[in-house]
Amino acid sequence: MSAQRLDGKACANEVEAELLGRVAALTKDNLQPHLAVIIVGDDPASHVYVNSKVRTCERLGIRSTHIGLPADTEEATVRGHILALNAQEDVHGILVQSPLPKHMDEEALTDLINPSKDVDGFHPQNLGRLVQGRTDGMLPCTPSGVMRMLRWANIDLEGKRAVVLGRSRIVGMPAALLLAAKGADATVTVVHSRTDDAEAICREADIVVAAVGRANMVTSSWIKPGAIVVDVGINRVDDATRERGWRLAGDVHPEVEERASWLSPVPGGVGPMTIAMLMENTVRAAETMLTADTKA
Ligand code: NDP
Repeated sequence: MSAQRLDGKACANEVEAELLGRVAALTKDNLQPHLAVIIVGDDPASHVYVNSKVRTCERLGIRSTHIGLPADTEEATVRGHILALNAQEDVHGILVQSPLPKHMDEEALTDLINPSKDVDGFHPQNLGRLVQGRTDGMLPCTPSGVMRMLRWANIDLEGKRAVVLGRSRIVGMPAALLLAAKGADATVTVVHSRTDDAEAICREADIVVAAVGRANMVTSSWIKPGAIVVDVGINRVDDATRERGWRLAGDVHPEVEERASWLSPVPGGVGPMTIAMLMENTVRAAETMLTADTKA
């Protein structure tokens, strides 16, 4: 058996096509969605991600503002930018690119973002809504991208056993909540670094979402034949055959393709969906502001 491809690029193209219409409708009402991105330091991967977000904004007619700050910037300066963007009426989405330099408190800075502009969906108010089962707000982009991709493939989750590998605030935990939420209705187990025999637990799953950040950790023996496997991991591995000396690898070993019924590729799987959902959150934030203005 060779797994069908959970094609994040194709699904993201569909999301973008829908967003183009929503942006056009907003523009007719004299409102151009506007995303502000703050990036601190010169981590090359972060700059690649931010450039890709800015390019997607351009494609969709979303305005973007890019605030690049040196690595030795004081936290108070970043705080100042966030507060200014919160107050700026024509800014609908604010994103602080992770990771921040070690001397900064990332969570404290996220907490400062106005929840209605928190397009990353990491603010405690937005994560709290998700815990309450309210999935109509700002959802974290990577987990909501995973859910959209599963819907795109017409995969029915109801009653299925799902295992999420990883319990981070930005991927694992929210992914588990979304899979277990009413409407999705999977039965979810969360596996982390202290779990006993993660492999055996994973082998019982109908759906596996791997978000651990360990290249090729999930091999065939972890996967029940015919399971659906979503690979969130993005890891750099050495590759002497490439001019640049490295390539990207997921958390799932390529051999799993012969055992799973669906598998998302890396790259071209969850990555493009994360950006698509960021765009959707930005457009939704602008729509919400327009509705609020109309009512006022
Ligand atoms: P974190 O490092 O924050 O979390 C990793 C999680 O994996 C932790 O919960 C950790 O457990 C768990 N873990 C680590 N080792 C093991 C192990 N051997 N067995 C079981 N669990 C383990 O990473 P993120 O959640 O931020 O990201 C995960 C991966 O997803 C990374 O590769 C990242 O690059 C990628 N990513 C991809 C995105 C995309 O757009 N495609 C977006 C965001 C992330 P514990 O809590 O016990 O430490």
